[in-house]
Amino acid sequence: MQVAILGAGFTGLTAALRLLQKGHRVTIFEKENVVGGLASGFREKNWQWDLEKAYHHWFTNDASALSLAKELGITVLIKRPSTDVYIKGRQLPFDSVLSLLVFPYLPIGDRLRTGLTLLFLKMINNYHKFDNQKALPWIKKWMGERSFATIWQPLFRGKFGAYQDEIAMSWFWARIKKRTPGLAYPQGGFGTFSQSIADRIRQLGGKIYLGREVKTGNSFNDKYDKIIITLPNPIFIKLFPRLPKKYVAKISSIQYLHALNLVLILKKPFMKKTYWLNIADSSFPFLVAVEHTNFMDEKYYGGKHIVYIGNYLPKEHRYFKMTKEELLKEFDPFLKRINPVYNLSLINYHFFTGPFAQPVVTLNYQKKMPDFETPVKNVFLANLSMVYPWDRGTNYAIELGEKVVERVLK
Ligand SMILES: Cc1cc2nc3c(=O)[nH]c(=O)nc-3n(C[C@H](O)[C@H](O)[C@H](O)COP(=O)(O)OP(=O)(O)OC[C@H]3O[C@@H](n4cnc5c(N)ncnc54)[C@H](O)[C@@H]3O)c2cc1C
Repeated sequence: MQVAILGAGFTGLTAALRLLQKGHRVTIFEKENVVGGLASGFREKNWQWDLEKAYHHWFTNDASALSLAKELGITVLIKRPSTDVYIKGRQLPFDSVLSLLVFPYLPIGDRLRTGLTLLFLKMINNYHKFDNQKALPWIKKWMGERSFATIWQPLFRGKFGAYQDEIAMSWFWARIKKRTPGLAYPQGGFGTFSQSIADRIRQLGGKIYLGREVKTGNSFNDKYDKIIITLPNPIFIKLFPRLPKKYVAKISSIQYLHALNLVLILKKPFMKKTYWLNIADSSFPFLVAVEHTNFMDEKYYGGKHIVYIGNYLPKEHRYFKMTKEELLKEFDPFLKRINPVYNLSLINYHFFTGPFAQPVVTLNYQKKMPDFETPVKNVFLANLSMVYPWDRGTNYAIELGEKVVERVLK
């Protein structure tokens, strides 16, 4: 069978690999000049490793990703970097029972309530009762008014902005359930990992066309037996303008946020040892600071220290129209609240965007989620809006790539 795959992110690459291993012929069309999609990387002079354009790690229970890495002979490093929260001008540990027990901004009763509720979420497996419950009222009810107002509401506001009140509890459950204290990272970076999959695809006879943006879906039907589309729903709809209205209305009801990352390259560390800093302060124009070199050694990046300043925003937000200089100017006073002299050691910085990076998981999301099979004969859809209840991630992209192949071959 001849299969065309649109998109060379982790979903498309995995689907291609599995089809080739089963003896089918595969051609991938990718808009960008690199493979890896949202997890693709770049490399500065004197760096030994690629760096993702947006912060990336795996949890130690990301079984599909870890098993593909093993299959391709890629070493996976596991570490336990620290997670903190920035709150009321202070940076506080926020990644263990102990850190919650000594958390200064909540009375002891609220700390215990918060801890027990998180433990409860970690223990339960049946998330379906959360499908149609909103996250913020649930959190307020069980963790208490103060925990809600001090920690969770600012975090939800930072991540989802205008959608904060619509987020389903199942999204929050998945975030807590999946977290592991240890984090994993492929040696060489996610860019190198995606490149290894691409190399294996080519060894097996698959073709990958880079820099090939597909603008219409119709031309594929004559040349290929099956087409797998791994692009976001709004792009899929544009490629096939004659899709039934009901289907379009259903999948268009899924909203997306777009990712923004300012990557700072510094001579000195930005934070002492923190890897992940959640910003629970609604006055900040960003959601998270991630010091990659407090996770992976700076020796792989020419001894430089690397920090991501990240946010998720609607596509029309003014930040997406800014230059990197304008964005840094906007963020600078807030970066100085975390490290007042960071600018003295700033060597270089990059501004990357991730389109359609975060589907907004609202009530009864499952009913909005597209199926692999589409109304167009022999055209299959597999994208990051389809990994519910889990939040998007390369582990689920790999799993999705494998599952769509099963469906295509059925
Ligand atoms: C800020 C951020 C942080 C993240 N952190 C993590 C993390 O820590 N761990 C983790 O595992 N995951 C993380 N993720 C998620 C992870 O990157 C994605 O879930 C995963 O890469 C999705 O893979 P995909 O193949 O489904 O989609 P994509 O990577 O979006 O791939 C789709 C591909 O289609 C291409 N394309 C689009 N339009 C066209 C067209 N018209 N023609 C041809 N090609 C086209 C795109 O260029 C892209 O390469 C993060 C994502 C972001 C944005």
